[in-house]
Amino acid sequence: MLLDYHIHALAHGEYDYDEFWIRLFAENARQKKLVEIGFSEHDEYLPRIKPDKLKRVQEDFPKLKIRIGLEVDYHPGREEEIQRMLAGSNYDYIIGSIHFIDGWGFDHPDFKDQFATQDIDDIYADYFSLVNQAVNSRLFDVVGHMDLIKIWGHRPVKQSVQAYVEPVLNSIKAARMVIEINSSGLRKPVGEIYPAREIMELMLALDIPITLGSDAHHPSQLGEGLEEAACLAKEVGYRQLVTFSNRRRELIEIG
Ligand SMILES: [Zn+2]
Ligand SMILES: [Zn+2]
Repeated sequence: MLLDYHIHALAHGEYDYDEFWIRLFAENARQKKLVEIGFSEHDEYLPRIKPDKLKRVQEDFPKLKIRIGLEVDYHPGREEEIQRMLAGSNYDYIIGSIHFIDGWGFDHPDFKDQFATQDIDDIYADYFSLVNQAVNSRLFDVVGHMDLIKIWGHRPVKQSVQAYVEPVLNSIKAARMVIEINSSGLRKPVGEIYPAREIMELMLALDIPITLGSDAHHPSQLGEGLEEAACLAKEVGYRQLVTFSNRRRELIEIG
């Protein structure tokens, strides 16, 4: 069984949250035989989410579980604001993600040249330190695209990526968080799933649970790469995926 918990109907604000548009995602999910999907808009577009529209689509697809999550952009100092934003809400799950290092939108093509102006190992250290802080904030259920920093293909040289990741994984274990296997890296220059196999192996050794997401920003991207992601997870030794409802989790077998 496959599911897609990382979907942006609003993309980066270029689409509207209307019923017709939401329905296209659900139809694609049905076609691809996904058992569950979850919309996880970027929190900056939160005011544009219309739960009533989603509800109508949910009613039209009774066999497909349609969850509502949120992808929150974490940076240090935002904790209280995030806490306030989530208070009293009824999301099924919250993804915590790092998209900026000190204001630098490193995953945006317009700003990727900045990789050349800094020591790559410093960049890796800064990025994973931010992921660690996001985890330790205990505000989130899921770690989003864990090794996104590799997006353009830059690799650390002074030490292995595992060395950067290991302390973060220990924090994730302690925080009882889930890591998503995010297939969107397959359509980026790095051409790899987030996180990489060698990280997944460390995750499994720590018994850190996983879920799946395509990071679709368009209905056509829904579910894209998830079979490959699930296949890799199974090769590493994973057998189950986490599903969320009202921020409580259950396990299902990977299809
Ligand atoms: Zn993201
Ligand atoms: Zn996303």
